[in-house]
Amino acid sequence: MIKYIAILIFGACVGSFINVIFYRLPKDKSIIYPNSSCPDCNSRIKFYDLIPVLSWIFLKGKCRVCNSAISYNYPLVEVLNSLLWLFIVFLNPYSTIFLNEKLAVVLNCFLITNIFIISYFDFKYLWIPKRALDFLSFIGLVYLFLKYLNGGQNISIFFIDLIAYPIFYFIFEIIRKNGQKIYKKEVLGKGDSFLVASNSLLIGIKGGFLAITIGFIVAAVCETILLILNNSKRSLRYFPLGPYLCLGMICVWIIGADNMWANWEMLIFNFIF
Ligand SMILES: [Zn+2]
Repeated sequence: MIKYIAILIFGACVGSFINVIFYRLPKDKSIIYPNSSCPDCNSRIKFYDLIPVLSWIFLKGKCRVCNSAISYNYPLVEVLNSLLWLFIVFLNPYSTIFLNEKLAVVLNCFLITNIFIISYFDFKYLWIPKRALDFLSFIGLVYLFLKYLNGGQNISIFFIDLIAYPIFYFIFEIIRKNGQKIYKKEVLGKGDSFLVASNSLLIGIKGGFLAITIGFIVAAVCETILLILNNSKRSLRYFPLGPYLCLGMICVWIIGADNMWANWEMLIFNFIF
């Protein structure tokens, strides 16, 4: 129980840092310096007003100095990150590859936070920060090595999963460049190519295919529903693919590629009925 409470608290604290990233990265500002200040009156926010979620509630969503409203998005991001951490620690995917429970918690939590950051930026700006993609590749490589060293994966599968990175990258780049020529506009972002490639390091080549398939199906269904609801005349609007690809990846990460591959009829059956 104490473990889960600690996860919620740490998750909220990291959520507070994610708010800084969300706010400063698009403005090309440093995410470390200076300390947080009110965007309206520029006054430095005191340390006791930086307690995740609670400070916002105590201040009733207003700046202590100038009384201007502080968006509810800040506590929302903190709560969301907490819940994502709780969710992933509870499910503990890939538990067999970690010899140390603390290492599993740290890596899985940072991975889910990174996916959250990627999805947010793609959703809001149709852009994925390169640093987040690099971090995803790095964690993917760590998982790949751990699967080989501790998970009993044989060396040939290790190399196949490793070359999945360039394979997925080039497939998506070919689609992107040809799509651009045919439709005279961007059909995919370059970030999507890096995203599917990095994901494949984490979940392997088989998992990569499954994750892309799930992502495309969910994207097609959701975007069609959104199009009908918005009753938009712009039938070819841009939409972010990243969050859907991430969703596919999370499904494969949690359920396991081999498990999914072996039981796909049952999974679809359970999903529909
Ligand atoms: Zn202020």
